[in-house]
Amino acid sequence: MEVLEGLKTRVYRFGNKTADGNSKMKNLLGGKGANLAEMSAIGIPVPPGFTITTEVCTEYNELGREAVIEFIKEEVEQSIANIESQMGTTFGDKENPLLISVRSGARVSMPGMMDTVLNLGMNDEVVLGLVKRTNNEQFAWDSYRRFIQMYGGVVLGMKPESKDDIDPFEEIMEHLKHKRGIELDTDFTIQDLQDLVYDFKDAVKKRTGQDFPTNPWDQLWGAIMAVFNSWNGDRAVYYRNMNGYPADWGTAVNVQAMVYGNMGTNSGTGVCFTRDAGTGENVFNGEYLINAQGEDVVAGVRTPQQITKLGSQRWAELAKIEEADRLENYPSLEELMPSIFNELNEYQDILEKHYRDMQDMEFTIQDGKLWILQTRNGKRTGAATVKIAMDLLKEGMINEKEALLLIEPNKLDELLHPIFDTNALKRSNIIAQGLPASPGAATGKIVFFADEAHKYKHSILVRIETSPEDLEGMNIAKGILTARGGMTSHAAVVARGMGKCCISGAGALNINYKKRTLTVGDHEFHDGDWISLNGSTGNIIEGKVATMEPELSGEFAELMELAVKYGKIKVRTNADTPKDAKVARGFGAQGIGLTRTEHMFFEVDRIKAMREMILANTIKGRKHALEDLLPMQRADFEGIFEAMQGQSVTIRLLDPPLHEFVPHQLATQKELAEDMHISLQAVKNKVAELEEFNPMLGHRGCRLGNTYPEITEMQTRAIIEAALNLKERGIICKPEIMIPLVGTVREFEVQDEIVRRTANTIFEERNDKIEYLVGTMIEVPRAALIADLIAEKADFFSFGTNDLTQMTYGYSRDDAGKFLPIYIKKGILKVDPFEVIDQEGVGQLIKLGTQRGRATKPNLKVGICGEHGGEPSSIEFCYNTGMDYVSCSPYRVPIARLVSAQAAIKTTM
Ligand code: PEP
Ligand code: MG
Repeated sequence: MEVLEGLKTRVYRFGNKTADGNSKMKNLLGGKGANLAEMSAIGIPVPPGFTITTEVCTEYNELGREAVIEFIKEEVEQSIANIESQMGTTFGDKENPLLISVRSGARVSMPGMMDTVLNLGMNDEVVLGLVKRTNNEQFAWDSYRRFIQMYGGVVLGMKPESKDDIDPFEEIMEHLKHKRGIELDTDFTIQDLQDLVYDFKDAVKKRTGQDFPTNPWDQLWGAIMAVFNSWNGDRAVYYRNMNGYPADWGTAVNVQAMVYGNMGTNSGTGVCFTRDAGTGENVFNGEYLINAQGEDVVAGVRTPQQITKLGSQRWAELAKIEEADRLENYPSLEELMPSIFNELNEYQDILEKHYRDMQDMEFTIQDGKLWILQTRNGKRTGAATVKIAMDLLKEGMINEKEALLLIEPNKLDELLHPIFDTNALKRSNIIAQGLPASPGAATGKIVFFADEAHKYKHSILVRIETSPEDLEGMNIAKGILTARGGMTSHAAVVARGMGKCCISGAGALNINYKKRTLTVGDHEFHDGDWISLNGSTGNIIEGKVATMEPELSGEFAELMELAVKYGKIKVRTNADTPKDAKVARGFGAQGIGLTRTEHMFFEVDRIKAMREMILANTIKGRKHALEDLLPMQRADFEGIFEAMQGQSVTIRLLDPPLHEFVPHQLATQKELAEDMHISLQAVKNKVAELEEFNPMLGHRGCRLGNTYPEITEMQTRAIIEAALNLKERGIICKPEIMIPLVGTVREFEVQDEIVRRTANTIFEERNDKIEYLVGTMIEVPRAALIADLIAEKADFFSFGTNDLTQMTYGYSRDDAGKFLPIYIKKGILKVDPFEVIDQEGVGQLIKLGTQRGRATKPNLKVGICGEHGGEPSSIEFCYNTGMDYVSCSPYRVPIARLVSAQAAIKTTM
């Protein structure tokens, strides 16, 4: 073991057109580290550095700081020496010092979720060396004060934790600004910066009881460990859980030579995209700031300028800035530094072609030299996801299979949500315009603080700017609006990643957090007032605007055609109404996998008949009430069959416990008693009688049909008669009648007999017949275990994975909400098994049930209709298990069709 530990490479170097790693090593080097290595190897100028692997993060979590230092000390020291020789500078040197950055980098990008320390290696002597080397005292002292501030926050734990906490460093700066009567950080004099350094160090001593570390090596080890710690910080954990990233991935640490964008007017920094991340349009775009460091661009404090002339002109038009003003005050990089722009333009082209996907790059210009700091596949909206994939296909950069694989299935979700109703939009009042940072339509009530986003069912988070602390609230809010910041501000980047509508940089907004007001011209809005955001145009609209259903058209429709070409497992939908069925067919559903008949009983006119049926004390009374329900159910089924135009429709017989249908409030109990001409006490008695200790394990599923066969008879009659009626109208449908919650063969047999007897009676009555199937859901573990016996009787299986998960884990579906979030937060469970199929446990029952069922009936039709049928990894599992179809909610159908194609393509690779 010892020997093996010694052999493992834990530190990978890059720089000067060579690298130990490459882009395929994301799991080990993190996305950022892998890309730095790859870029360096293909000749892109990246500042030299090294990556400490994600495995070391795991070792740190298990073995602690000292063990890790022992593992990597030698490699780190050699790697620093390597940077020194490439940059011609020396770490900790007082003449010509090397300063470095220490950054996190997980295998997937988690923007702003983890920590970074810049300008590391600085102390009272080194700063003088930097002054000498750069001849820029202002810059050197500013870098020093930034370093103490960052190191203090990240490594020494001095970061404010809530919005009420005061940042000790900001407080000192504010105090000095006030004293000196200045407003901006850039107004500080050299003396001010020196005072700040002194006061910052004093604040550190007071808060931590320790002197600020002056030895660069101590600083470096402190920063490395802080990055590892930040993997388990609150923000990162929340983000990981939201995205289902497991805790054991860990983060890599990237240590790299610092290059400076704030060395004067011949320096700058920026962010750019090879295509438009919002719309997918094939235009190089991005933002930069002269004389600034990286975080200045994303922090949204200064308004960044556009990289290209075209982008700059488009921006000026939105911001209502005259051309002369634009040229003088906000010129594009293309106009200001044409040769740097050309070089950057060349690299963006090389990088997009190399990675064959849209790239999101960061760069710095230090004293006229361009450095590329990072590149990664850019986050993008759902619309851009589809457009970019289809464009790359048309441009011949990728093939059809690659285009399908390029799309993250859940991203399509954004294209399937309502958009603003065009008529309502015409009547709306636009109060201001900002940057269209992330498209979509959002309407909601204003909140000014992220932790209040949950206050309203639909809220719009309105901020001057956002920060990583706001993440949770941004996720809850329907839309995000900021007064500051450009297209690459925190708000814009995060919103695009979440697929959330966002407008940024709406300079006309005046936001007062204290008074909780938003003022635009003479309009004043308060917390709780409705506003609407059109993230595609940047329009901010007064009040609530109606929305309408999205359409499957253009490139999205082309993509779906491709998906159908490659998809193998069929995609059905769960639909309870003709309207749902129509929506799903519009999205390309290939049948219905589950119609929950009980949902039809909740409508006002039906619930009464349903209650009368439940309250009846005799079979005769029950049959009487069922006769009232029959025509309603039949009409529903006709509507659904018609919407599906002859495709298979699976209808499940009544499933939920009857107590769900009876009134539990006194007023409605009284009403029911009057309607039925019985005493209130009789109603109350029945309600009490129906109460169960464990309704999820109680009198439900086929247990209802087996105790009240007349319900099965009525439902069968409604289904068969509906199908016969349609047949008369020329639409042939083959209903699939599904018996829920079967655990024994006999349970199924009894129901099957009732269904077939009833159907035969109707065929005789009508002197006509149709074909139909009688199958079962596999929801009880016992059913999966005896699937071979059940398959002797059943025509098909449909896995009800909601119940199967409930009963396999023993987690009540009604109560799991109380502990599952805690389990996930603590890492006891990686993901919610009600959302993502637990392949390890529940998956075994699904495989076993399918195999045993098909051992009896080789052609047994098998599908899934639990919520998992719309979840990408679960769909892939179902395909690999050999199921015939998945069934999901109408709005997930396109996602499932895409995954169907992706799963089939993956097996051929
Ligand atoms: C299931 O249990 O997976 C299922 C589809 O049925 P329901 O959610 O209605 O119990
Ligand atoms: Mg169920």
